[in-house]
Amino acid sequence: MKTPMQMNAIDFDSAKLQRLGLGQPSPLAARSVSLSQLRQQLGQQLQTSLEPQRILGLFFREVQRLVPLDALAYQHKPSDLRLEFGQRGHHTVSYNLSHEGEHLGELVFRRNQRFTDAEQADLEAMLSTLLYPLRNALLYRAATQSALRDPLTGTGNRIAMDQTLTREIDMAKRHSQPLSLLMLDIDHFKHINDNHGHSVGDDVLKAVAESIKNQLRNVDMVFRFGGEEFLILLANTSRDAAAMVGERLRHAAQVQDYFAGGTRIELTVSLGCATLLPGESAESLLRRADSALYVAKREGRNRLAMAG
Ligand code: GH3
Ligand code: MG
Ligand code: MG
Repeated sequence: MKTPMQMNAIDFDSAKLQRLGLGQPSPLAARSVSLSQLRQQLGQQLQTSLEPQRILGLFFREVQRLVPLDALAYQHKPSDLRLEFGQRGHHTVSYNLSHEGEHLGELVFRRNQRFTDAEQADLEAMLSTLLYPLRNALLYRAATQSALRDPLTGTGNRIAMDQTLTREIDMAKRHSQPLSLLMLDIDHFKHINDNHGHSVGDDVLKAVAESIKNQLRNVDMVFRFGGEEFLILLANTSRDAAAMVGERLRHAAQVQDYFAGGTRIELTVSLGCATLLPGESAESLLRRADSALYVAKREGRNRLAMAG
């Protein structure tokens, strides 16, 4: 079967849509096309994007030329993706999409009127046009996401951190909301490597990252900043609230069990906390959090220090 991967399809070409006769929104259940025509048109068209949102949006719109719908919901848990189109409806038909053992998500069609057998057969026939475009879009999404992630701990990497920090500072300024930052560093991590080996050190790093993520609502705001240093961005969080989160992270890291073979490893972390000042730059905010972390280390480690 033809593989429809088209890297140039990221830029959606609306002219091409017009040529394919799919440029205008179609009237509900116009039945202006046959199933085979629609499958052919849709099959070509869905290859012109690598965005799941775009692909499923087009699919939702075009399928209605044959089967009227009220809503379409899509979910792919492994990539944390949930999309919804249209309004809710009482009757549903669900499909678990998979291809050669690969899970491609779950699709739910909704409508206030019951679906007939013929309509379900049409939906199933149309679903086959979705297979390769959807699989490619999921692969593409996984690739772009992994480019922003630290492979060892699954937290954001430096590129993601720079982007997110800039965005969050803009947002905080625009909405006059507080923004706080925690810089966390494992205490005497070098000893863990020296005493137990680098691979135990790696496991400990992963465990600390998990402990941080488990304590936070928004795991997208955790970044691996350096070797054994993490940065946590707390949007709309005041200095006092950030201090509480920092203390919670410190405590969680301390009480968690880490093992090397059968031996429990004692581990603590130190944190520096800074809250964005009016007109402050990302560099300055990071510098203040880092200075606070340095104070926490100097004052004995296993503690949180607040930036002045
Ligand atoms: P302090 O309490 O002052 O932070 O002491 P420390 O030993 O944690 O600090 P230091 O910066 O001297 O050492 C950090 C160590 O982290 C050194 C480096 O070998 C180790 N490290 C950095 N990245 C990794 C990694 O990916 N895996 C492992 N296992 N170790 C790493
Ligand atoms: Mg350290
Ligand atoms: Mg360090």
